[in-house]
Amino acid sequence: MASGNGLLSTSIALCLALALGCAQRKGPTDRPTDDLTKALAVLERKVCLTIGDRTNGPGDQCEPHVDRSTYLRPLRDVFSSAPPILKAYLCSVDRLYLDYHSPWNASFSAFPDSQTGREYRTIAVRRGVLENRVRYADWATAWTQHWWTGGPIDRPSSDPAVPRVEIETKLNGPSGTLYHLVAHEVGHLLDRDYGGGLGRRPADKPFEPNEFGYLSWTSPRYVGADGVVHQAVARDPSLEAVRVLDFDGNVRVRLAMLAAAGNAQSADPGAVAVQNWKPASRDGIATFLDRLDHSPFTTVFSTWRPEDDWTESFTAMMLPSIARRFDIVTANGTRVRVLTKVLDDASPFAPKRRFIQAAIDRALTDFRARQAASPNPCLAVALAESRPR
Ligand SMILES: [Zn+2]
Repeated sequence: MASGNGLLSTSIALCLALALGCAQRKGPTDRPTDDLTKALAVLERKVCLTIGDRTNGPGDQCEPHVDRSTYLRPLRDVFSSAPPILKAYLCSVDRLYLDYHSPWNASFSAFPDSQTGREYRTIAVRRGVLENRVRYADWATAWTQHWWTGGPIDRPSSDPAVPRVEIETKLNGPSGTLYHLVAHEVGHLLDRDYGGGLGRRPADKPFEPNEFGYLSWTSPRYVGADGVVHQAVARDPSLEAVRVLDFDGNVRVRLAMLAAAGNAQSADPGAVAVQNWKPASRDGIATFLDRLDHSPFTTVFSTWRPEDDWTESFTAMMLPSIARRFDIVTANGTRVRVLTKVLDDASPFAPKRRFIQAAIDRALTDFRARQAASPNPCLAVALAESRPR
């Protein structure tokens, strides 16, 4: 980044440290910086380093001190780079948890608050994502490999038989990883609010042509009355045929390992391999990624179930704001160019992009109405860059 941006960042940090002094100094030329400072102050008050168990409710306890360089600076990078829809959702959540309880990299929740009746919304991110200070490309590589190998999420394997991710981005460090994870969880909230994908009833209802799931799936993943998990079935039979990953079985062994360890920091899945993970065959990986390249799917994770197909698609649509390239590369030279696929109107992904863009437009219209009724400095910054179409 240019040094001008460095200076801007420094002045924001100083202003936040001296919040009282900052408000006095606004002039006609530095108003956008001042507005961003106010928005970030709102956002930073939502950060909670959880003490004890988390209930995803307003009563949860947080550590009194939040280290700025480890936790707040990456969040500031994420917010500053995010498109309006991502900014607006970050402004709208009640709390951003950072703790050792996340079985995955991140999660979201939306529970009615018994006191107010209002929905209390949170996003939680594994603390290790920021504390391990892993480069974004290394995390993306290790996370992609993890689905095949069960290896540590923050430590890529050097085995040439497993794929790597190559990224050109302005957020090279943990900020890039945080951006990716927050975009994924915001995708779930957007799907819940405007996508119709989460909470379909009955869960085994076949997809209809006006649903996102219909674009790539013939059947959703659901748990039958007998308790048996029925895997989602992809519309593209060639992809289904090589999808040899035991997603559900591997998730179960991951959860069992973490449950056995309690909330111990030592069990951070970023640092340890999952025991009893059923690895995929090395031959299958290259075939799978070759098929993925010609499919409407973006990542390995997106082929697990329609909900995560939605969120991974949304995440991929958010990536051009921070990255010029996001390629999954195999040893034999297969290169899945995720951003090329996302931006190309003629790619098999294009119908998904149009579907999600329509949901984004509806959400922004509602955010604008909410802001008009009850102005909020965070949402003001989020919506300043978006124009109704
Ligand atoms: Zn997800």
